[in-house]
Amino acid sequence: MEKVPSSDKNFISFVLNYMCDHRAAEMWLSLEDFSKYMHSLPPKCEPNLFRKQYGNLKTCLKLPTMSPVFFLDNNIVKFQSEEKIKHCADIGIISAEDYQKYLKAMDVYWTQKLSVAKSLGENVCKVCGDTYKLVINKKGQCKTGEAHVPKYDWTKSPDVLKCELK
Ligand SMILES: [Zn+2]
Repeated sequence: MEKVPSSDKNFISFVLNYMCDHRAAEMWLSLEDFSKYMHSLPPKCEPNLFRKQYGNLKTCLKLPTMSPVFFLDNNIVKFQSEEKIKHCADIGIISAEDYQKYLKAMDVYWTQKLSVAKSLGENVCKVCGDTYKLVINKKGQCKTGEAHVPKYDWTKSPDVLKCELK
């Protein structure tokens, strides 16, 4: 991996912090909303100067230096997988402090997501990753030809983050 310039790292940190502070329950961000937010900041603040170098926010977020951390799904900014983000922290693209912030935000994200699944009587399959309704799970529903295998037992703890089956 080529060296990531500090200006690019700072911009990564800027986006990461915004996402964790404002969008933790979803962990995605529309380009339009983020653009509005950036326009509300002083025109000569560092993130805006960085953006202007590249013309617009979209081009900026598509830089090869951003892609280990973020990707664009149409006009939605998303984080790469948790594994990839950990790797970015390991190699220093993301600071230790920002990584802690990301982990906390991911706890919020998963709590939200799993609480919804629990309330809908759903579980996540350990094998294929699909979300499925507990009541209709039977042989043949998973890609293995068997029933889905539950990843969580909602009765283990009131805290959904502690319900994962070993
Ligand atoms: Zn399955």
